[in-house]
Amino acid sequence: MKRIQDMIPEPKIAYFSMEIGFRNDIPTYSGGLGVLAGDTIKSAADLNLPMVAVTLLYRKGYFMQEIDATGRQIEHPVKWNPADHMTLLPQRVRVRIEGRDVSIQAWVYYIDSLTGGSVPIFFLDTDVPENNQEDRELTHCLYGGDDRYRLKQELILGVCGVRILKALGFQIKKYHMNEGHASLLTLELLTRFKKDIETVWDERAVWDTEKVKELCVFTTHTPVEAGHDKFSYDLVRDVVGEVIPFDVLKELAGKDKLNMTLLAMNLSMYINGVAKKHGEVSKNLFPGYQIHAITNGVHSFTWTCESMARLYDKYLPGWANEPELFVRIGKIPDEEIWEAHMEAKKKLIDYVNEKTGAGMDCDTLTIGFARRATAYKRASLLFRDIDRLLKIGKGKLQLIYAGKAHPKDTDGKSNIEEIFRKSEQLKGAIKIVYLQGYDMDLALKLVSGVDVWLNTPMRPREASGTSGMKAAHNGVVNFSVLDGWWIEGHIEGFTGWSIGPAPTEATLTASTDDIDAEDLYNKLENLVIPTYYGQRNIWVRMMQNAIGKNAYYFNTHRMMRRYVTEAYIR
Ligand SMILES: *Cc1c(COP(=O)(O)O)cnc(C)c1O
Repeated sequence: MKRIQDMIPEPKIAYFSMEIGFRNDIPTYSGGLGVLAGDTIKSAADLNLPMVAVTLLYRKGYFMQEIDATGRQIEHPVKWNPADHMTLLPQRVRVRIEGRDVSIQAWVYYIDSLTGGSVPIFFLDTDVPENNQEDRELTHCLYGGDDRYRLKQELILGVCGVRILKALGFQIKKYHMNEGHASLLTLELLTRFKKDIETVWDERAVWDTEKVKELCVFTTHTPVEAGHDKFSYDLVRDVVGEVIPFDVLKELAGKDKLNMTLLAMNLSMYINGVAKKHGEVSKNLFPGYQIHAITNGVHSFTWTCESMARLYDKYLPGWANEPELFVRIGKIPDEEIWEAHMEAKKKLIDYVNEKTGAGMDCDTLTIGFARRATAYKRASLLFRDIDRLLKIGKGKLQLIYAGKAHPKDTDGKSNIEEIFRKSEQLKGAIKIVYLQGYDMDLALKLVSGVDVWLNTPMRPREASGTSGMKAAHNGVVNFSVLDGWWIEGHIEGFTGWSIGPAPTEATLTASTDDIDAEDLYNKLENLVIPTYYGQRNIWVRMMQNAIGKNAYYFNTHRMMRRYVTEAYIR
């Protein structure tokens, strides 16, 4: 296995992410963004790419979710010990925060691939004795605290990330900012590449933005204006100080507030959204910028359950490092796909019954919905007309929900409570459970064990979405609003079903709840339920298409090859 010493000579791509989720027992992620980062790094290792990654340590993780009998979410800190998994490095770096020198240490974890590739992840940690108590806690909580806490974390990620890589001796040829959280790294680069004051005629021209641009790649993940981190310049002055003159900074990051997305965009040679539609939406949000699109994927091996992996090993050997082999899905006999699916379904149903006592069974059509509990995901769209749902689904449906709400997202929390109330209302007719503690392990159980994966976001708020791609890897059919990746993956009645109209500009502001719910009920009644119970051969054909068309394409191996050819080698 390659270790830091062996890696130094080769120039690297440095991947910066506020969260990275790569295994269930390392709680340094909250959801989609982090899991995508983990999948990205795993594919980079499989493909032997020269990459290193940087994030923060989060000794208290995001949070452990408990849900009480009425659906109220209770948050607990996660207990884990970095030393059980990672190695502490001897190098230290410092950064000035609020005028104090803060010391930062780093831990390393290597993502090793069977192909011989290896990507180290560096976890930055301020919890060292020479820092004061407040500073020691700066890397404790993911997405905790106020603006000030957040800005300090982003300062550590961006600036100390660059510094630790330098201290370790790495030569970096590209800095890839996964979302705007890391964009303060550009300030560190600007100070590093400052031109000689003697040779420039304007004081501002000492800041070599072109040089920094050549080094930077930026991926945006948020299609809504409010989702982009912004900090007041008073706060920036207080926390960061004047690293570069404020008038220069304001030109790069916005006049009124420091907009992390603008800063990243103004200092990156290559900018992209995470699905084709998201690329277009981002162009409208930021006119004048050239914004490309590289549609997300998932790491095939990570997101394929045991029974399906066994089947792929038998008929499509080598699939995990060459997901294109899913093109030969037709080689697998129908019965064997069905059996492998039923094995995963039984595992999930047993788990559900053990945890909740719901008494679910394996013969009933089971729909899964698990994602961050927040208003735009519209978890309760299915319950809009309860009588209609009852008429359509009585005795024919089981529903399994999961997902965490951010501790401060009161709407998200009440979404969970609402599902609890609906499940009471439908008791005896449609079994509904809300599983607590959505994490990577539970996600795999769900995306492989249900029959249909449901997604009902408000357009165009789902930049990409990735859980549906995980479902496809397990032959689970998607039934989703045409947003994010599903616009590209959806072929009606072939890879799955759509809900509601195609995303047009007209639907961006208007509520489409009624139209979407109507379509959802119609298709459930006339297509999904009848096909599941009456035309098993067609159902299995759709499962095959989910694998052969969706998993074939929506994986991080394909995604990384595109980042290499379109963003990194330029
Ligand atoms: C994949 C995943 C997500 C992201 O799913 P979306 O469909 O993008 O919302 C969130 N949380 C966990 C634990 C996941 O595994």
